Amino acid sequence: MPCGGDVPSVARVTGTRPRVVILGGGFAGVGAAQKLAKADVDVVLIDKHDYHTFQPLLYQVATGLIEPVAVGHSLRDLVHRQDNAVVHKTPITAVDFDAREVRFEGMEPLTYDYLVLGLGAEVNFFGTEGAEEHAFPMYTLADAVRLKDHVLERWEAADKDPALVDDGALNIVVVGGGPTGVETAGALAELYRAELARDYPDLPKGSARITLVEAGPEVFAMFKPNLRSYTEDALRKRTVELVTGDAVSVITPTRVTLKSGTELEAHTLVWGAGLLGNRLVDSLGIELQRGNRIGVGPELTLPERPEVYAVGDIAAITDAKTKQVLPQLGSVALQSGEHAGETIARGVAGNKAKPFEYKDKGTMATIGRGAAVVQMLGGRTMKGRKAQLAWGAVHLALLPTNEDRAKAVVDWSGAALTHQRAGRITVSADE
Ligand SMILES: Cc1cc2nc3c(=O)[nH]c(=O)nc-3n(C[C@H](O)[C@H](O)[C@H](O)COP(=O)(O)OP(=O)(O)OC[C@H]3O[C@@H](n4cnc5c(N)ncnc54)[C@H](O)[C@@H]3O)c2cc1C
Repeated sequence: MPCGGDVPSVARVTGTRPRVVILGGGFAGVGAAQKLAKADVDVVLIDKHDYHTFQPLLYQVATGLIEPVAVGHSLRDLVHRQDNAVVHKTPITAVDFDAREVRFEGMEPLTYDYLVLGLGAEVNFFGTEGAEEHAFPMYTLADAVRLKDHVLERWEAADKDPALVDDGALNIVVVGGGPTGVETAGALAELYRAELARDYPDLPKGSARITLVEAGPEVFAMFKPNLRSYTEDALRKRTVELVTGDAVSVITPTRVTLKSGTELEAHTLVWGAGLLGNRLVDSLGIELQRGNRIGVGPELTLPERPEVYAVGDIAAITDAKTKQVLPQLGSVALQSGEHAGETIARGVAGNKAKPFEYKDKGTMATIGRGAAVVQMLGGRTMKGRKAQLAWGAVHLALLPTNEDRAKAVVDWSGAALTHQRAGRITVSADE
């Protein structure tokens, strides 16, 4: 056990088996917990939510295509069959590496023998004026539900007072030409042009504008030129207006001002533009890498802290093959979390650690129904329905259980065939 130094380990103090504390129940944290199922350790998984969020489909919740429960899975349910694991739902407030202790809101601190940091990332507004107050980020399940409710509320308001349409009540500006921005803009446009246009027949069709703003010269900068031009065409076909080479500088509840001075009338601004490592990292007293991520070694542990692992979006993991820092993706999070779990299990069983090797499944993103792009490691590309199927296959593997996979196949096939957005209702708990 790597618990040397002055601080006695939990196991040495209590005479029990080693305690592994996992912070965060995302792809990384759940992956680590599941790989420890057969290890001779006690696993404590902690998250401020009692559910695991499948972020890749948040845009479908925001556009009413699927229900929130389709992307949120009970964390307790995930460890039901794992008798060495428990879950606590509480915000984590501090980590003391020297005392090997984690502190929480409303719960006694916990000491650990091994710590897995899987707290993910947070939205980065880059200091944009008005963003904290008025932008709708797309990072959590609550964000997706909030955006859906807000959009539906604006349509209801315009239905009662059509003059609001001229003030931009139905217009949406989406910030960011990466996967989050593109797939959200595409899905919103499909929702607008199909269901909402039919739901509100008295409102002038086509008057609602969806504008995607990207500061760089093109959307999907990470993809090859043929996939970038396919994406632009697919967005335009869905009536998304593209503004590139300009950035959002001021956001108010009804107006968006760009750096160029252009003012867009829009009552909704969706932020899909940037990420920053979880804010807890600022208090750890360690040197951080670009995007506030924690730099880790080949075994995914912190320098000088062999008992502390950082995995998923919170970590800057250098790919052993390409020597590049791996992107913040579900498959990186799941594989790195699993590797941390496996390494701890190996260590407890007296076996040597192995370096992390990322298995690249390709870079991919969806744009809308039947439209997606895939770029494989060797440079091969795919687009359209074929790419959407490949996206589905890779993302099924990210789901935490076989039951989830079976359900997702039914849900996704149903949505693709019928394209019914049963989720476009607003339910208020205050009534
Ligand atoms: C809209 C969107 C679409 C995406 N689409 C794709 C895609 O198509 N394909 C793909 O591969 N990747 C996609 N990604 C990226 C992918 O979802 C992330 O890389 C992945 O979720 C990271 O996993 P993680 O476990 O590191 O962090 P997260 O999944 O963010 O999990 C972190 C967990 O920590 C918890 N937490 C954070 N702070 C605290 C605290 N202080 N106290 C307690 N708990 C805390 C959170 O509640 C959360 O459950 C997308 C991301 C977004 C936002």
